[in-house]
Amino acid sequence: MRPGLSEDLIARVLGAAPKYTLAELEEKFPPRELPEDAMVTRFAPSPTGYMHLGGLYSSLIDYKLAQQSGGIFLLRIEDTDTKREVKEAVDLIISSLNKFGIKNNNDEKYGPYYQSQRKDIYHSVAAELLRRGRAYPCFLTQEEMDEIRENQKSAGFATGIYGEFARDRDISAEDIIKHLDNGETPTIRLYSTGDPTKRIIFKDTVRGSISVPENNEDIVLIKSTDRLPTYHFAHLCDDHFMRVTHVVRGEEYFGTVALHIQMFRMMEWQLPKYIHTATLDKIDEETGTQRKLSKRKDPENNVAFFLQDGWPTDALVEYLGNILAPGYEEAKLKGAVKTFWDYELRPKKIPMSGGLFDMKKLEWWAKEYIGAMSVPDLVKSVTDWANEYGDEKQKMQVADSDYLTAVLAIERDNPKRVRKDFITWKQTLEIEEFFWDELFVPNTEYAYNKDVLNAFLSNFNIADDKDTWWNKIVAIAEKFGVKNGDVAMNLRVALSGRTNTPDLYSIMQVMGETRVINRVKNAI
Ligand code: GLU
Repeated sequence: MRPGLSEDLIARVLGAAPKYTLAELEEKFPPRELPEDAMVTRFAPSPTGYMHLGGLYSSLIDYKLAQQSGGIFLLRIEDTDTKREVKEAVDLIISSLNKFGIKNNNDEKYGPYYQSQRKDIYHSVAAELLRRGRAYPCFLTQEEMDEIRENQKSAGFATGIYGEFARDRDISAEDIIKHLDNGETPTIRLYSTGDPTKRIIFKDTVRGSISVPENNEDIVLIKSTDRLPTYHFAHLCDDHFMRVTHVVRGEEYFGTVALHIQMFRMMEWQLPKYIHTATLDKIDEETGTQRKLSKRKDPENNVAFFLQDGWPTDALVEYLGNILAPGYEEAKLKGAVKTFWDYELRPKKIPMSGGLFDMKKLEWWAKEYIGAMSVPDLVKSVTDWANEYGDEKQKMQVADSDYLTAVLAIERDNPKRVRKDFITWKQTLEIEEFFWDELFVPNTEYAYNKDVLNAFLSNFNIADDKDTWWNKIVAIAEKFGVKNGDVAMNLRVALSGRTNTPDLYSIMQVMGETRVINRVKNAI
């Protein structure tokens, strides 16, 4: 510890007198009144305008833990070092989360939730540290720091501002005044008393008991440029005063946990429980090896990709749920639970290393999910998607809801034999394009048997039931000495342009008499 600063100097180094005492902050944001096991979690993205799949993955964990324990899930916007358009980026995060069924419980009492609006809180805590001699104003310039760094490198020391390299660590009040009178704005640094030859032991919920070297760096708490906090200091203040109990974050933050623990202990604040999750990996198509999802190479790293292509959001939740809660799929197949939201997620079971994200597996979950949907729900999902993301063509397809319903109802009446070829809302509409005259592409390559098609037209009756209809086809086959399947294939290609379709009788029923006759005539 070092001598604390006077109130007058504290106000000068921070640019203004702090608004609150620590006791006032404790009173303003008291411990929450929740059942003992209730978890308070938060998703704390930086608003970049891009939502990573990894962000969705960790907010699913956050939300699930809060929801199943009767706790609270917060959304905190870490906007202290962004000059970008924050509002749009935040709207994107909120609307994306909502689409996956994730809603925050941000309650006014513990807000604001934008870090850029919490300066008073950070400054009040920083003031207390300055008072207690646990922090100090540092006037090193960028050039001076670069020089220190170069010297450290050439002498083989670890780089950073620590110990003997922290020039202003023990700066006197007189020298502080001199710098301030000179018009300089200091950064506020932690006065670290950590010793890296000693180790901190703590329990990571996923990784178990861990020991990491103590931190000796006098890290920046408040930046000189805008007097906003660094990530580390904001994490300390926010997770304490928002009364967060569980910090779920990517494994890339594991390296700074010693520092965070040091700060919580220094404040004598209850340490949150940490859950450092593994990043999502994929199998690289070219090399066949497992690697991290990449923003540059992998479209699926962006949550917007799934929304734009119309993947069922619930299926993505199911699949991610199965990655983060091993055993979920089994429980679901056994019928023990219906959805991921009903499954008890055990924090200790969250995978510690690379969860593998495989688009093929997602396809399976999507097919199963859509296969189990009712026709009205399917129609609604496809329609909502087309109206929000679809092109003119797709919007046209959903405009006549009755026709779309008839199209999508094909082969869905027998629950044991539901078709499983729909994967996304977009692809569903694409598969069914031939039902719309504007989109139908006649097959001009196919060698139609005109006699067969003419015979079909001569006694086609849309009112025939399925048996009567089939008997007529059999009769045509006999007459021309071809197989039943050949007759059906001629009709199938004439009507759809394709050799592979769902049930032909249903297709004709949905298309209606005029359309069937016209297409068959055209084929002839
Ligand atoms: N803003 C950080 C991020 O986007 C938050 C990390 C944390 O959850 O503490 O990764």
